[in-house]
Amino acid sequence: MGKVILVLSDALRYDTAVAGMGYLGHLVEVKKANLYKVIGELPSMSRPMYETVHTGVVASEHGVVSNYVVRRSNKPNIFQLAVDTGKITAAAAYYWFSELYNRVPYDPIDDREVDDESLLIQHGRFYTQDDYPDIELFSTAAMLVRKFSPDYLLAHPMGMDFAGESHGSDSSEYRNHAIHQDVMLANLIPEWLNRGYQVLVTGDHGMNADKLHGGTTPDVREVPLFLIRPEVLAQEDRGKVISQLQIAPTVCKLLGIPIPQTMAMPPVV
Ligand SMILES: [Zn+2]
Repeated sequence: MGKVILVLSDALRYDTAVAGMGYLGHLVEVKKANLYKVIGELPSMSRPMYETVHTGVVASEHGVVSNYVVRRSNKPNIFQLAVDTGKITAAAAYYWFSELYNRVPYDPIDDREVDDESLLIQHGRFYTQDDYPDIELFSTAAMLVRKFSPDYLLAHPMGMDFAGESHGSDSSEYRNHAIHQDVMLANLIPEWLNRGYQVLVTGDHGMNADKLHGGTTPDVREVPLFLIRPEVLAQEDRGKVISQLQIAPTVCKLLGIPIPQTMAMPPVV
């Protein structure tokens, strides 16, 4: 039970994360983090997987089956469940999260920065451009932590997706961006752990060499889950395979809130 930060790195492949993210790999080596291989749900597209990660429900059930289904979530989701139990929620994320959990249509001026306890994402900072720099996104997320101490914070950088859709997954740009992102996380995670946060780093989907995702192959399906908890020794389950449907119930359990029946898969801890 406690506070949780979910880093949802858009289009972070499992193999690229394992190969390039040395700080997170270090935490796994010294048993301060668990590393799981997550089999992503389908379709391996962004908006459907944002909803799947936050509801633990498959796309055909939650209904957000493509990026063009633009409406609020109608399933029990992490933001709703947290607010219902009196917890504080925050996100630094792409504007599709504002559409899923706050308001539709997205107003780029009114909705960009919100501090409103009546919303599901109470402290939201949203961006609309796919090339929005990850360093700015992570600084915003870190600001939300210091300013509001949210119980649940989503940090959602787009840099891997932008690099992958510009250059493909088999490119130095895509691979090196994972290294840069890992350095950014290395500069933040120790403070977050000191503040008592449990930190999860995962992806919504992967990326292929043809500069896209959406299909069924391992390159676009397999994403990592690094689970970092202060004072908890990691188990010897490096590389254990889990379902993406287990992310939402895991976050609920770590937050200490009841897991709804709609989340059919068990938490990983
Ligand atoms: Zn995505």
